[in-house]
Amino acid sequence: MKLMKSKTPELLFSSLMIILVSITFSVTADESDKVINIYSERKEELIKPLLDRFSETTGIKVNMITAKGDALIKRLEIEGKNSPADILLTTDVARLYRAKSLELLQPIESDVIKAIVPANFRDTESTWFGLSLRARVIVYARDRVDPEDLSSYEALADPEWKGRVCVRSSSNAYNQSLVSSMIVHNGLEVTEDWAKGLVDNFARRPKGGDRDQIKAVAVGECDVALVNTYYLGGMLHSDIKAEKAAAEKVGLFWPNQSGRGAHFNVSGIGVTRSAVHVDAATRLIKFLLNDESQAWYAEANYEYPVKSGIPASATLQAWGDYKADPIKLDQLGQHNAEAVRLMDRAGWK
Ligand code: FE
Repeated sequence: MKLMKSKTPELLFSSLMIILVSITFSVTADESDKVINIYSERKEELIKPLLDRFSETTGIKVNMITAKGDALIKRLEIEGKNSPADILLTTDVARLYRAKSLELLQPIESDVIKAIVPANFRDTESTWFGLSLRARVIVYARDRVDPEDLSSYEALADPEWKGRVCVRSSSNAYNQSLVSSMIVHNGLEVTEDWAKGLVDNFARRPKGGDRDQIKAVAVGECDVALVNTYYLGGMLHSDIKAEKAAAEKVGLFWPNQSGRGAHFNVSGIGVTRSAVHVDAATRLIKFLLNDESQAWYAEANYEYPVKSGIPASATLQAWGDYKADPIKLDQLGQHNAEAVRLMDRAGWK
């Protein structure tokens, strides 16, 4: 009775959630080495066909729950060592880093994996690995902007772009990771000044996702925007006529090509600390890194394969060659909190 009284509604909710999760995953509990449970931030349609292929070839059944990255991390925290999850899949490095910092992931030491995933796209302590690459680039209105006038992320804070820049909110992980990379390269003070200059140049208060920024450029609300490459790829192949038309009105510019290179992020994977199916989980990581999976995984969402030697899709090849910032991505995680505070001080809503 005492116990019941001391339980907060949040704790009761957590217990309920744990029960629900165990129900979801209990079906195959008796075949402990023939099942993997995944918590995925990545949308089901962008991973399910590969997971099905994995099950067909290995006989290992895959259970998956999809939700927002923050919610999945919270859930892993609440469930602790009782979590049924073996794997966490995310679409940004900052969340992988946070999961690691909260001790929710365990290291997987594999020479095969290390040989495939370049050192800058995986954790130094092997708790997470990039699976696909996405660049954050500048898109511009083809009819109003001469790409010759574009150069770097830094230059978007120059007075000539006053009232011409669209970008989504600072609560978004992709912007946070970009700003983290700038803190590493340019220092805190310079980056804060830059962020203030960028905010001064905003055409409107940040709203919507990256696709909305592309649409805003297309309709003339702004002239340039910062977006991840795959959103442009998705819109160019959209069944919705207006989306396709909007995407065709913008050009893609690779920033910082005469300097450090364009900012890249990863979608990635980590094995949870609570995992009981570690061998099967390791097999899945290797499967997702084989040539065939890499080609499919990247193409399905217009991303770049993390494995070298795998050709990018035709859409991506049309955007040309690029130089990528070689920064080690765990540094982006390390500076995430600093980046969030800096953007807040700069008035980036
Ligand atoms: Fe995204």
